[in-house]
Amino acid sequence: MGDTYFMPELPEVETVRRGLERTVLDRPIAHVEVFHPRTMRRQPGGEQEFSDILTGATFIATARRGKFLWLPTAAGDAMLAHLGMSGQLLVVPPGGEDPKHLRARITFDDEGPELQFVDQRTFGYLMAERGGAQLPSLVAHIAADPLDESSDEDVLVAALHRRGEIKKLLLDQQVISGIGNIYADEALWRAGIHGRTPGILLSEEKRRELLDHARQVLLDAIAAGGTSFDELYVGIDGEKGWFERSLDAYGRAGQACRRCGEIIVREKWGGRSSHWCPGCQVLPN
Ligand SMILES: [Zn+2]
Repeated sequence: MGDTYFMPELPEVETVRRGLERTVLDRPIAHVEVFHPRTMRRQPGGEQEFSDILTGATFIATARRGKFLWLPTAAGDAMLAHLGMSGQLLVVPPGGEDPKHLRARITFDDEGPELQFVDQRTFGYLMAERGGAQLPSLVAHIAADPLDESSDEDVLVAALHRRGEIKKLLLDQQVISGIGNIYADEALWRAGIHGRTPGILLSEEKRRELLDHARQVLLDAIAAGGTSFDELYVGIDGEKGWFERSLDAYGRAGQACRRCGEIIVREKWGGRSSHWCPGCQVLPN
């Protein structure tokens, strides 16, 4: 199989959250099955505990912070999911052939569509936590993300005023969560900021502008993902569409900048590829 897996980032996780919101709430859980030990590696009591918490429970809401997704239950517990590198949460009619990399399955009393966790590379995981409905313990150290309605804009703007390079700050999940490499490059291009600019050199106004761009990039990606989102199948097609249509910096090395016509360059730093325009994203000296 020549499948390319794009690492799920905030827009993909948000698309999954919206899909689950429409498909798995208010349906009492009948059975829980786990097929791979790595899927349970964050669960202190393993599969037994996971199953004990969820069997008979009912999801009543969906929540997300950064790339963490959780489903509170009526009893005040929660199931937490992290998709890792290749994880997918699928809601499919029961009785079909199991996908090749099926790692867990949750079925419901109504015998309607079941929830499947499929994860080829097993960097993702599921976890159930008693009392975790408000904020699962694994999420407590994660900073707010730009789309979080409860997040304080001023706190995020202030958090970017640091000595570190602005791109590293955008990627630091303890500073601001949910902005991956692609979205960081796009937000920096839109704001006209070189990624190696120390955050401390950016004015409050510029940091606010960057944050606005980051938020808009994420919303654009969600909108692109949403167009191909099928109610019963949460796939990666949306991200493919987004890749093809909407990127201004990421993946455009050697092509002309859509704003100034300079050639976009790609450089590796900090273990990641960065794409930017030398014409309109100039490093201050
Ligand atoms: Zn340019």
